[in-house]
Amino acid sequence: MNTTMDTITTDAAAAKKAAFEANKLSKRLHRQVGQAIGDFNMIEAGDRVMVCMSGGKDSHALLDILLSMRQRAPIDFSIVAVNLDQKQPGFPAEVLPAYLKSRGVEFRIEEQDTYSIVKRLVPEGQTMCSLCSRLRRGVLYRVASEIGATKIALGHHRDDMVVTLLMNMFFGSRMKGMPPKLVSDDGRHVVIRPLAYVAETDLERWAEHRAFPIIPCSLCGNQENLQRVQTKKMIREWERQYPGRIDNMFTAMGNIVPSHMMDRKLYPFETLRATGVADADGDKAFDEEPCAPPPPTPGALRIAPDSEDTP
Ligand code: SF4
Repeated sequence: MNTTMDTITTDAAAAKKAAFEANKLSKRLHRQVGQAIGDFNMIEAGDRVMVCMSGGKDSHALLDILLSMRQRAPIDFSIVAVNLDQKQPGFPAEVLPAYLKSRGVEFRIEEQDTYSIVKRLVPEGQTMCSLCSRLRRGVLYRVASEIGATKIALGHHRDDMVVTLLMNMFFGSRMKGMPPKLVSDDGRHVVIRPLAYVAETDLERWAEHRAFPIIPCSLCGNQENLQRVQTKKMIREWERQYPGRIDNMFTAMGNIVPSHMMDRKLYPFETLRATGVADADGDKAFDEEPCAPPPPTPGALRIAPDSEDTP
């Protein structure tokens, strides 16, 4: 008898703890997405936001959070979910429409066999992702125009942005990241990344909690970009050893000091002269650089510590 009672008590405590953690995670996700949207003025009154849905955990979380934020937002905007069915073998075409109907969200499934084009054009054994992404981008831009979308929302998150910065440094010899907001390469659309402040591990936990019907990204049979996979593994390992490192790298993307880099297009090194005026930001030359974080500036990317400790 006692054993049964003990089990019930333990289960109830575990369920209460799980609900508390889920609630905390939900608050953090909503706060971070709201903060990113506000900091970069991503969504304005009257916007028609096209949410690109691949069926992966990130795009599911993006749609889920935007839908709930729209209900409480002080401004009016609409959401259209768009999925591109690229005709990959085994693509479960019924999964997303069924889910999107259940969420009561306006959606469009665009069918375009980019898979056959990529298969035909890319020699066997070579990576297909580059051409595949380019074709997908073109289709999504066209759909955005057809449905009158004013913003295109993508599910990239904080870790994607840091990995992109590192990959550009490692393999492209340039300091170039992935911005939270940009104008599309055809110049006709504004692309936004509302998950910019969100850690990938939180999206994994949210996807599990919400039981999204995930469609795997390996249907095409192509290997994911190996360099990206390795770079992601590397930052996860760093984070494990030195917690907070990914956030620090991410914050650094919004705290650039051109006078202490070496891009002559950004800072006039050639014409630099002594001013005779003391400047606290001037170079300390032989001093050790302090490791303290920079002072907060309005709109800076530093994410406030969690404060969601109430259920
Ligand atoms: S993994 Fe497959 S579907 Fe995804 S971008 Fe690469 S080729 Fe395209």
